[in-house]
Amino acid sequence: MKTILLLVGLSACCSAGAQSMIWPDHKQATIVLTYDDALPSQLDTAVPQLKRAGFKATFFLTSDIDYITMPRWRKLAREGFELGNHTLYHPCPPTPDNPVSSADYTAHQMVWEIEVMNKFLYALDGHTNRTYAYPCAETTAGGKDYVDTLRAYHSVTYARAGGDNTSIITDFMHLDTLRVPSYGLEDNTSAGDLIAFVRNVQARRGMGVIMFHGIGGDYITTSSAAHQALLDYLVANRKVIWVATFQQAMDYVMKNRGN
Ligand SMILES: [Zn+2]
Repeated sequence: MKTILLLVGLSACCSAGAQSMIWPDHKQATIVLTYDDALPSQLDTAVPQLKRAGFKATFFLTSDIDYITMPRWRKLAREGFELGNHTLYHPCPPTPDNPVSSADYTAHQMVWEIEVMNKFLYALDGHTNRTYAYPCAETTAGGKDYVDTLRAYHSVTYARAGGDNTSIITDFMHLDTLRVPSYGLEDNTSAGDLIAFVRNVQARRGMGVIMFHGIGGDYITTSSAAHQALLDYLVANRKVIWVATFQQAMDYVMKNRGN
């Protein structure tokens, strides 16, 4: 019976041609912490927790930043945090709360908006390589997928898409760099759920990208205690888990996949 289980396990592992990644310092797994929408609770709560833990992370900004927050984002970029592109106006499927609808865009309008935001971010941090996160994890404009238009313009290096707690990346050869899946958190996700996800990523020797919104405030909120508990787990497992920005992790993947 044990032999059968072992064989089943092996075939599950390797049937898709997945080849495990050798992570820096032979760590087990890579975790990328990402935060969307330029929310004040990220600056006020998430950033101090990240700094105490000694981790860098990725913040996907819209143009919803002002004279008070811009210097704070700029300072973070200088300290090694990544500022990513999340469009200017966050076009999404229409809801009563969301005035800008992606249904009214064409693919080219979406890409132009992303390129203007790239220039905006260049003015903030001086970087020319830019990662991107789809607003509402939605890849359509005017009802049509715009990922290949974005690809044709080379506007961004990598793009984060949506997903759930099963979004663990292990098949790096077939990973579409403009559709990198992530664990999009729901409101009030528990510390236990966050840590369980990381443990699953470790067990599969993969990469896990977590999509946060508010931390201890704002909306789609993860409590500051749950966020801290996740960071505590990552600190305790620092020797076996690589915590990297989205750009850093994806640059590593592109350089090392297939080796
Ligand atoms: Zn968003």
